[in-house]
Amino acid sequence: MLLILHPNIKDTDPAYVKTLAYLHQLSGVTVQHHQVSGQQQVLQEIYLLGSTHALSIDEIEALPAVEKVIRISEEYRILGRHKDLQRKTGFQYKGLNFDQNSLHIFAGLCAVDNPKHVEEMMIALKANGLECTRMGAYKPRTNPYAFQGHGKECLPWVFDLAGKYGIKVIAMEVTHESHMEEIDQALHDAGNPCGVIMQIGTRNTQNFELLKAIGKQSEYPALLKRGFGITLSESLNAAEYLASAGNSQVIFCLRGMKSEFGAPHRNMVDFAQVPTVKRLTRMPVCIDPSHSVGSRDVAPDGVLELCHATAQGVLAGANMVLVDFHPAPQKALVDGPQALTLNELDLFIKDMEIARKAYLARVAVWQRASDA
Ligand code: PEP
Ligand code: MN
Repeated sequence: MLLILHPNIKDTDPAYVKTLAYLHQLSGVTVQHHQVSGQQQVLQEIYLLGSTHALSIDEIEALPAVEKVIRISEEYRILGRHKDLQRKTGFQYKGLNFDQNSLHIFAGLCAVDNPKHVEEMMIALKANGLECTRMGAYKPRTNPYAFQGHGKECLPWVFDLAGKYGIKVIAMEVTHESHMEEIDQALHDAGNPCGVIMQIGTRNTQNFELLKAIGKQSEYPALLKRGFGITLSESLNAAEYLASAGNSQVIFCLRGMKSEFGAPHRNMVDFAQVPTVKRLTRMPVCIDPSHSVGSRDVAPDGVLELCHATAQGVLAGANMVLVDFHPAPQKALVDGPQALTLNELDLFIKDMEIARKAYLARVAVWQRASDA
């Protein structure tokens, strides 16, 4: 059972003390605290675990500190919606709102190669009014002899350039918990010019020790990629590992499934599940069209298949788009063939604006029908 307390209630508040005293005397019930910090308010949640079947919702709801009671299932205990469509979703980070109603475009380099390309990328982002980007410093590669990313060596100048061009948040994959410490140190040394979302790649979706390590801290939000060869439920449970370790600032990313049935796409595009993840959990949902489609093939209508797939995800309510761009894709050290070019950035943004407007219009149509 989940109890949501009145916003900003303090531990010293008599209503809080009285409520907790009551809960602690319940036999066979464990009381677990969870705090959700937003920009404006702190939400205290209390999980009652164990023999909660006999408890009456009305009785618990009548306790003075309690605003709302929800019966939860074991599945996705913290991140799950538990059929409550009104629950608060997402979180704030670096002044930006990441929830199930927002949309952020994270266009950037699959892999950081040199300062010139990073700077050109950031100039293009600023010129197009974007404040977020993706920058891969630690690259998990299939071939051990392939370029593995510049790692911590590139962090100082990547963060300096982010500060110079007003980039607020960078999505950066980490494959080991030491990478998080290196990022933390480099950000600190650079004077914290930007924020970082710790990206966990599809090859590490079930690296439970990495999930626990990232979950133990709450300074950096996490972006968890769906595992490319496991069920959706297994991937959502992986996200719950982060939350159960303490960090519920998690964005879930659909990036396609490994299957020959997806060919000629690199992966089988799975963006039809954007609304499914939003229904089952409170996580903002990201789509990665670059690693799903994996090419720059153009449809007969002149639109890149990658952009068609992105629009499909945005039309379905995606909250974030992680997409590969590169100033000179033929020179990119990783995934050049799927990268969009900088002069395609404004087209991409315009296209997404159209899809986003269409999504909002679709929601309004269905809303009107249900209000009638
Ligand atoms: C990436 O985003 O750079 C990446 C490697 O993605 P994925 O983990 O989805 O393959
Ligand atoms: Mn890549």
